[in-house]
Amino acid sequence: MVNGHPWIFNNEVDKIEGEASGGEIVSVFTHDRKFVGKGYINPRSQILVRLLTRDKHEEITDKFFLDRIRSCWEYRQKLGYRENCRLVFGEADGLPQLIIDKFNDHFVIQTLALGMDAWKPAIVQALNSIFQPKGIYERNDVPVRELEGLPQQKGFLSAPFDTRIIINENGLQFHVDLENGQKTGYFLDQQDNRRAIRHIVQDAEVLGAFTYTGTFEIHAASYGAKSVLGLDISASAVQQANENAALNKLENVCRFETANAFDVLKQWAKEGRQYDVVMLDPPAFTKSRETIQKAITGYKEINLRGMKLVRPGGFLVTSSCTNLVNADLFREIIDMAAKDARRKIRQVVFQAQSADHPIIWNLENTQYLKFLIIQVM
Ligand code: SAH
Repeated sequence: MVNGHPWIFNNEVDKIEGEASGGEIVSVFTHDRKFVGKGYINPRSQILVRLLTRDKHEEITDKFFLDRIRSCWEYRQKLGYRENCRLVFGEADGLPQLIIDKFNDHFVIQTLALGMDAWKPAIVQALNSIFQPKGIYERNDVPVRELEGLPQQKGFLSAPFDTRIIINENGLQFHVDLENGQKTGYFLDQQDNRRAIRHIVQDAEVLGAFTYTGTFEIHAASYGAKSVLGLDISASAVQQANENAALNKLENVCRFETANAFDVLKQWAKEGRQYDVVMLDPPAFTKSRETIQKAITGYKEINLRGMKLVRPGGFLVTSSCTNLVNADLFREIIDMAAKDARRKIRQVVFQAQSADHPIIWNLENTQYLKFLIIQVM
């Protein structure tokens, strides 16, 4: 299953036998009637079928979801995740368009395709029987659902509970707002990468931009940074980031301000400000291949501005979270930025998203995060 691509496109299909309404489970055959797999169909979508199994004898039932989700949990536990993890990472777990984030006893679900949405009751039941959760919340307020003919919505899939929770990560605590936070409330995909800054931030003056609720910056403060300033354009993210600093008793070292990073970094470079470590974690800048140039320009600009603020011998910690910019292209962009900044750089660390988001090599959308640390000479 995981080696073949699980999507069957409209234009690959010759004919549909019988009636198949949106969301139903269908079998797919080659033109010479060899069985390919079973999956869910949506005649409205360009991706006609998304496969759930390549085993002819496997039935798609409530138990199928229970078994799959249980094995997802076994896999995460094997990797050492206990409290928080992306429990189900869609296609990479053989459950196309299903996302489940586990925040200790609380769960956030996204069902991004019609055929997966139809199984929401089975998915909730599976979570209830494996985990006895304190609460389950649906964050289906995502535009891609509309391509599937599904409404954007959010709400409880369990008895209502306080959606402002506190999680532990790497020995620190963070407020997470499951209802109103970005995406599912928190970026678990950087949880392993946050540990990678441990040594380079010691005694350092650190500037972070695109901080969201301040996770990288609070890690830096706890790893012994001298001072940490974090910037985000969202006032509510900044407020939560300051609350998170206080929650960890790091508010004297680490503070956050609302600002547009593009403007402020440019201004500060002009003024000659310098930091030992600059950390950037910008949003994707584009969602479609047509406007990829916009993303390239955005990444180059912000990294150029960030690099200029790094003291010689200091470090730039930088990420890109879109699969449209692959690892090679990202490296090229950083290289261009270094040339423009007239700085020599060397790679210290280059890795992907954390291991609870497994990568399937021929599934592009599973290889999306690039996390790079460079030394800027
Ligand atoms: N580093 C964070 C995730 C960052 S998500 C973490 O590990 O949790 C990207 C953030 O960039 C969002 O919080 C968004 O509000 C912010 N952002 C977007 N455009 C911005 C801009 N021009 N200046 C500053 N922040 C911006």
